[in-house]
Amino acid sequence: MKTLKSMRLHIGIFGKTNAGKSSLLNRITSQNISIVSEIAGTTTDVVEKSMELLPVGPVTFLDTAGINDATALGEKRLEKTMSIINRTDVAVIVCDFQGIDDYEKELIKKFEELKIPYLVVVNKIDEKPLSDVKFDEILKVVQDDKRILKTSVKTDKDIVFRFKDALVKLLPEDFVNSPKIAGDLVPPKSTVILVIPIDKEAPKGRIILPQVQTLRDLLDSDCPVYVVKETELKDALDNLKTPPSLVVTDSQAFKQVSEIVPENIPLTSFSILFARLKGDLQAFIEGARAIENLKDGDRVLILESCTHHAIEDDIGRVKIPRWLKQKTGKNLVIENFAGHDFPDISGYALVIHCGACMTNRREVLSRILIAQEKNIPITNYGITISYCLGILPRAVKIFK
Ligand code: SF4
Repeated sequence: MKTLKSMRLHIGIFGKTNAGKSSLLNRITSQNISIVSEIAGTTTDVVEKSMELLPVGPVTFLDTAGINDATALGEKRLEKTMSIINRTDVAVIVCDFQGIDDYEKELIKKFEELKIPYLVVVNKIDEKPLSDVKFDEILKVVQDDKRILKTSVKTDKDIVFRFKDALVKLLPEDFVNSPKIAGDLVPPKSTVILVIPIDKEAPKGRIILPQVQTLRDLLDSDCPVYVVKETELKDALDNLKTPPSLVVTDSQAFKQVSEIVPENIPLTSFSILFARLKGDLQAFIEGARAIENLKDGDRVLILESCTHHAIEDDIGRVKIPRWLKQKTGKNLVIENFAGHDFPDISGYALVIHCGACMTNRREVLSRILIAQEKNIPITNYGITISYCLGILPRAVKIFK
């Protein structure tokens, strides 16, 4: 079975047109997945390639459009490149023997601001005497020679090994030590109950990703796990000899489940577990405080990371707007945006992010950073729902 795209390390490849980005990617993946051409500007959009890059593990390369051309598409490509930065866990800048200029320096500044580790691949060093290549100038900006890889993608026989070696040294800590979803919240081998409503909104014949991932995470921690519908929860609790160390519910059944589970048993939701895994739980809790200050006419943006098919009683389009209006009693203007691009959030009183099951943590953290920079509160689905239902303190108590 393939590793989920959202759990892969996303490696963005940046650089000017014709610096050799696509050729590098083709050498690493040994496939012609990017169109390689000597004509500048051939890669017109982002090319994604997922692969197992041993020993790094599952990765997705994002080969971005080059910058520096005068074609009509140039500006659009630039925009796309910038939106890719928000999905990037590790960045690779490819330049040639001419070194780097304002464009690459601007990218490096952005990576440093967003704390994205980066590697500068200085390509085509076979085409000039080494003394002509401006390494010192690159080092002045990069300030660490571990971040520079001198090569010729065309002639360097060891490029794949050298690239992986440099990459491993730059891997973000949370990728090396994969964070737990729930296994670190409970004593090892203790019992956990997962509550999964199977109603008309549940996808036919399957269980959704966050629920499957939580189950796997708990099994990895040797926890016995009971999976029940909310209608069977009371019986399950009654039948257990010792109370479970945690109950995790789908947010949509939060109210009903919180009334069944005794106060002394910790309770949270899948969406809150994912607020921690895919974002910043504390920032989302603080963001939710803005709900009580919402006024008539305030604009609230519901931000979804993917363009899923919206169902009749959709959580982002129907349920959360309904809960928000019930909780605040205000006439709010609630808008939705779906996709990887980040819209202009100026003018919104609150941003509510989805559970982000289809995207990586880097993208959600970038969005939180942008919102904080603009002083706009940001929270997520699970936190919003438990806040609106009046059970937020209980739902986050387990996180200490
Ligand atoms: S939680 Fe977000 S990423 Fe996951 S399916 Fe819903 S909209 Fe898409």
